[in-house]
Amino acid sequence: MWRAVALTLFPEMFPGPLGESLAGKALKEGVWSLEAVDIRRFAKDRHGTVDDAPFGGGAGMVMKPDVLSAAIEAVARSLEMSAPGMSGAPKVLLSPRGAPFTQARGRELAQGPGVVLVCGRFEGVDERVIEAQALEEISVGDFVLSGGEIAAMAVMDCCVRLLPGVMGEPASANEESFEDGLLEYPHYTRPASWTGPDGTERRVPEVLVSGHHGKVADWRRRQREEITRRRRPDLWAGRTARTNEEK
Ligand code: SAH
Repeated sequence: MWRAVALTLFPEMFPGPLGESLAGKALKEGVWSLEAVDIRRFAKDRHGTVDDAPFGGGAGMVMKPDVLSAAIEAVARSLEMSAPGMSGAPKVLLSPRGAPFTQARGRELAQGPGVVLVCGRFEGVDERVIEAQALEEISVGDFVLSGGEIAAMAVMDCCVRLLPGVMGEPASANEESFEDGLLEYPHYTRPASWTGPDGTERRVPEVLVSGHHGKVADWRRRQREEITRRRRPDLWAGRTARTNEEK
């Protein structure tokens, strides 16, 4: 069973959306497990203090290293007892400063025993705990969320749908956006002719109803290339560089 452990100040946020649909079904079936650990339980005082003002001044509060580290260590100890396979599992801190999360990293995580995800709040966490606990910093994009929980859920969701048996059709994962450095081709379903609110009739591309599998495959590949080149020149450049290396 693939395991996800989230360290958070808001454990009641979990499983949240991951309790529904594909991920929720897999959770109920025991394909994966999700444990949300309340960081506040590891506070050192009666008030449950988890944050403090930043040294050097400035706005906001910083998550205390002693409390957060105690929570991470408690999780490690409890996993040692209940899930020895998790001992090598990556410990991730969700952070806008982190390495951009990718489908490739998601696939790696999904192939391992699981992941421990530390969710930041306030201005973030004391730098020393990142070092001392050797946390891998992962970002879900160049924007700022108010906490790591939604980012952690995004990472979990990406991993869970890659676990064996979670997706209806295993083939569909390989043709998806990013799997081979290309975005996906456009999709169409019935009706073949549809008139939208602008009064324009739109037909599905002829090739898709031709029944000619080779032509469909060619069309889809060309679409993927064109869309990637136009929308994501960065992906396209990376792909061109790799193809040249292979030559
Ligand atoms: N002061 C920080 C932002 C803190 S946001 C800065 O300027 O970089 C509070 C928490 O939300 C962070 O500690 C992190 O855990 C989470 N978070 C915010 N944006 C994120 C992102 N793009 N990816 C991953 N986690 C994020």
